[in-house]
Amino acid sequence: MKKHNFYAGPSILPQFTIEKTAEAIRNFADTGLSVMEVSHRSKEFVAVVDEATKLFKELLNIPDNYSVLFLGGGASTQFAMIPFNLFVKKAAYLNTGAWSKKAIKEAKMFGEVDVVGSSDDKNFSYIPKGYTIPADADYFHITTNNTIYGTEIKHDIDSPVPLVADMSSDIFSRPIDVSKYAVIYGGAQKNLAPAGVTFVIVRNDILGKVTHHLPTMMNYQTHIDKESMFNTPPVVPIYAALQTLKWLVDKGGVEEMHKTNVYKAGLLYDEIDRNTLFKATVEDSEDRSLMNICFVMTEGNEDKEKAFFEYATSKGMVGIKGHRSVGGFRASTYNALPVESVEALVATMQEFEKENR
Ligand SMILES: *Cc1c(COP(=O)(O)O)cnc(C)c1O
Repeated sequence: MKKHNFYAGPSILPQFTIEKTAEAIRNFADTGLSVMEVSHRSKEFVAVVDEATKLFKELLNIPDNYSVLFLGGGASTQFAMIPFNLFVKKAAYLNTGAWSKKAIKEAKMFGEVDVVGSSDDKNFSYIPKGYTIPADADYFHITTNNTIYGTEIKHDIDSPVPLVADMSSDIFSRPIDVSKYAVIYGGAQKNLAPAGVTFVIVRNDILGKVTHHLPTMMNYQTHIDKESMFNTPPVVPIYAALQTLKWLVDKGGVEEMHKTNVYKAGLLYDEIDRNTLFKATVEDSEDRSLMNICFVMTEGNEDKEKAFFEYATSKGMVGIKGHRSVGGFRASTYNALPVESVEALVATMQEFEKENR
């Protein structure tokens, strides 16, 4: 039976990425060696990093005064690297969920943090609005897509201070205006590559202002100066990321991705809104994520949750269990998820409704 992969992360990757990476694991760039066993400083591998950087810049229209880095440590290490590199006297954060909270916790080790808005009061089921960003903050940090709760800031916001964004789970899902951000970062394992590589897009002139000690590996400038080769970068995930970037180019780039993502999410939200057994946890369509779609059983139907999970599993749905802090279900509809998988889930929900009326 065909499997429909709705995992939140690590998550579905293009078949192209998987096949090309498998080939390079056996024979990389006709070297007769595996990509796992060649020097990261070999000309063949340096070419991989160079091309991945180039495609990153092309796909996201990244201006020349920005650097693209491929690091280890996951997005979670960035929670500390951001204040290490940018925190002078005060930072502002928007609290939109578990990942924001973790980022805030790290920033607090550096000094005053102004949490300008929070949706904690309603289990992070909406994006806070009408908050004020203090003009004297060194930077303002947002999590654009809240993977666990299924909310998303789907447009580039205006910020009077340098804007920093965790885009772990919506990078390359839509066009973005990079010039509005000082730093964009994320773990690759949601929409780009296997776990292990972390991307950072950083505006060069934002650096060099902090007065505290900055450990070498925590300093973005270290990695900019050595083009992500200060230490051994995660070579296999970078190789895989390059394949996804090529796939994105071939598919028409982020504009085309966005169209398909809007279509896929629309199919599923429409069914959730129509189906008498299910309801979305995020009510406001403006805040609904295009990447992680969370839904629960409607009132009076809570007892059917386990039955639906088993039914969906029998139809080939994988990874639709909601995060434990939300419950119910979460279907992640990343770039690589085909429309057919969303259609299959919608059909499964309709059949289940018929059988359980
Ligand atoms: C998954 C995720 C993280 C954590 O990423 P790691 O690479 O595991 O550290 C951080 N932020 C968001 C929005 C995520 O989805």
